[in-house]
Amino acid sequence: MENLKMAELLFPEITKTPEYYEELYPARNLKEGAVVTRFAPSPTGFLHFGGLFASFVGRTAAKTTGGVFFLRIEDTDKKREIENGVSLIVKGLNDFGIEIDEGMLSETVEKGEYGPYTQSARRDIYRCFVKELVKKGMAYPCFMSEEELSQIRELQEEKKELPGVWGKYAKFRDITVEEAKKRIDAGEQYVVRLRSPGQEDKRVKFKDVIRGEIEMPENIIDVVLLKKDGIPTYHFAHVVDDHLMRTTHVVRGDEWVSSVPIHLQLFNVCGFKLPKFAHISPIMKEENGGKRKLSKRKDPEAAVSFYEEEGYPAGSVWEYLLTLANSNYEEWRRANKDVSPEKFPFSFSKMSKGGALFDLVKLNDISKGYIATLSADEVYDLLYDWSKANDDVLFARLQDKEYALKVLGVERGNAKPRKDIAKWKDVRDYTEYYFTAPTSYEFSVNISKDAVLEILENYKKVYTKDLTSEDWFPAVRDMAEELGYAKNPKLYKENPDAFMGHVGDVSTVIRIAITGRSNTPDLFWISTVLGYEETISRIDNAINFLK
Ligand code: GLU
Repeated sequence: MENLKMAELLFPEITKTPEYYEELYPARNLKEGAVVTRFAPSPTGFLHFGGLFASFVGRTAAKTTGGVFFLRIEDTDKKREIENGVSLIVKGLNDFGIEIDEGMLSETVEKGEYGPYTQSARRDIYRCFVKELVKKGMAYPCFMSEEELSQIRELQEEKKELPGVWGKYAKFRDITVEEAKKRIDAGEQYVVRLRSPGQEDKRVKFKDVIRGEIEMPENIIDVVLLKKDGIPTYHFAHVVDDHLMRTTHVVRGDEWVSSVPIHLQLFNVCGFKLPKFAHISPIMKEENGGKRKLSKRKDPEAAVSFYEEEGYPAGSVWEYLLTLANSNYEEWRRANKDVSPEKFPFSFSKMSKGGALFDLVKLNDISKGYIATLSADEVYDLLYDWSKANDDVLFARLQDKEYALKVLGVERGNAKPRKDIAKWKDVRDYTEYYFTAPTSYEFSVNISKDAVLEILENYKKVYTKDLTSEDWFPAVRDMAEELGYAKNPKLYKENPDAFMGHVGDVSTVIRIAITGRSNTPDLFWISTVLGYEETISRIDNAINFLK
């Protein structure tokens, strides 16, 4: 009776019961094993690589099991909010191809049957469930002042006791309705606390799908459920939301592991079925032989804007995230070259417990491999969008689409496409010579100026308009032999005094004359893109430069 009166005193405006919400949000009709999970950021607008990783893992787990991935905005702490914070997060996820099945799509638009998906719009729901706990005698109003709280904290520190409001320190546990009413009428502020049923010597066990079995002391603290402003704490909102949204897997950062005993207790006292927990370790970085967490302050790659600015295509980042998520991904990839990465059988239990290691060199390698699988048209479209926002010079060069497609098509679409481009930011420099002829040359090979001139003069005769790709190298080799060069490096090495150099030196001279560089893709292919006249004119330029 007392409890009912207390509930009415604290929540007179709440007329709905938990049954109402249970019916409004029925169990989801999904096939067995389907993972329902969520990304639940505060609307700070800032998407950290760790957040991208966690949402990627959630998305992948849902997608591969026919489940649901939703975005819930946790805005119970208004101080951390920024304008357009939600849209920025949604855009951040979309940029990497992480689709949201349900939840917030912008500040005001949401989709799905289990909303509202923003915590500040769920005030009545939380209050209804706290009211129910008060009715059951499992929650009570606490009028302790800040001074009282810091006094007990000091005392607990002195006595080396568990800090917080528990047991003998929970002064308002048995407050009467009369006293509560008196204080409320006098304008005193209060929080609502759980009356923790935990016992000091008891332990709780749970199985984390990433970390395995975890055992910890049971929670004995009368944690705050509703703050003074009537807004729930993270703990309570998490439990109510993940229950009513029918989350099967709570995928979140491992900073929450230590709070799990509180959450287990809350699920219990509310009579909710427990979800599974997947606590993700932070992404690590190697430094001076040791490991540390990827840091917002020290590592540019910790901000997701880095990937857009550098021009890593979403597909590359996606592949990289998979290698970070499950170390067996690369092996699977090699065995399933033509299969979509969405078909990879992702597993929580194969995630790193110590924290996956971020490695930029590896990201570049993976990205090169990914970009090599794209067609010239696909590269063109992605590069076009990227350069429009990030590189005016490159964007201007892409306006001649026919020519740009030829440039981007060099050594692409063949049996062994060249793995040369890691990110769009590198493309301008990498393709420079297709757009501007070299004006100075460093013929780095170990032969005299006259010998270089002799090669270039002769090459003008060899490089005829109707030369085919098959005939090109044999023609260069024959020319090299005629001029006194070995037809292969091995022959040269066996008897260096007998030759001027070898065919590789000859082709390097030609390469430098045409492109200004000693290392490029297939030279015949490049010349074909440049055209016969331009190729010959570049050889002439180099000859004039030397003379
Ligand atoms: N808003 C919490 C955070 O950003 C979410 C944790 C969770 O996913 O439950 O850490």
